Amino acid sequence: MSALLQGTAFVTGAGSGIGQATALCMAQHGVKRFALGDIDLKKLDETKNALESQSSDVDVLLIKLDVSNEDSVKEAVEKAAAKFGRIDYAVNNAGISGPVARTESVAFSEWQHLMSVNLNGVWLCQRSEILQMLKQDPHSTGGVIVNVASVLGLIGASGKSPVTAYSAAKHGVMGLTKTDARVYAKEGIRINAICPGFIETPLLTGTISDENRKAIVKEIPADRMGKPEEIGNSIVYLMSHLSSFMYGHGLVVDG
Ligand code: NAP
Repeated sequence: MSALLQGTAFVTGAGSGIGQATALCMAQHGVKRFALGDIDLKKLDETKNALESQSSDVDVLLIKLDVSNEDSVKEAVEKAAAKFGRIDYAVNNAGISGPVARTESVAFSEWQHLMSVNLNGVWLCQRSEILQMLKQDPHSTGGVIVNVASVLGLIGASGKSPVTAYSAAKHGVMGLTKTDARVYAKEGIRINAICPGFIETPLLTGTISDENRKAIVKEIPADRMGKPEEIGNSIVYLMSHLSSFMYGHGLVVDG
């Protein structure tokens, strides 16, 4: 049976949670060359070790990356392309949780910080990846990009958990996904987003109380939160030929 994926992957926020799980899922489905970026190099080492214990023939480049910094993003994509010659799959996943407070209590600096990582960061990465992918042969794989948005990129957050900036940033991610998907489709670049619900990662579990968790799970038909690899496997689907006619879509994976 041939592998679903073949080529080089660039994944941001790959030191933890969904990004780490996605790298492992992509390796299980055929990717052998990885450029992994994260603000925390130590956590990236864990991902590299996990990848190497899963498959002996992976080649992993670790890059210290701040997605909110234009030069850092440009350098990271250039390093990946310099080492591997191309980027076939890009996952723009790095993100942070935002202020959980009603708008009248949120400082502009908190809003700006959240936007700089969760919205500007995705756009900066997508721009550099597109620049690289446009140089690649569109008759092989021009390139596939998946942006990690959220169900809160499609609907507003509840009054009990007013994460206005987070939801606004994720709506922005959907906008840049849908528009660039249309703009670059004819040039062989396929762009989609994934919209996870509640997933067990440090980003989420670090911010909720036990009581909150029970209330959240009560509302989920599957009666549990998702696991990072359940998002990773859905990203593999969006990367693969199995979704070859999907463009500018926000795939909801929320149990
Ligand atoms: P996570 O476990 O905290 O992983 C995110 C990774 O990104 C961390 O290693 C984090 O480092 C890193 N990061 C933060 N800021 C960065 C920056 N400026 N540049 C580069 N890397 C940076 O969180 P996760 O839950 O896997 O989140 C991944 C994505 O999924 C995010 O975009 C998030 O919004 C989205 N998402 C998550 C859920 C959920 O329920 N978990 C639901 C919907 C969408 P630090 O730990 O040092 O900050």
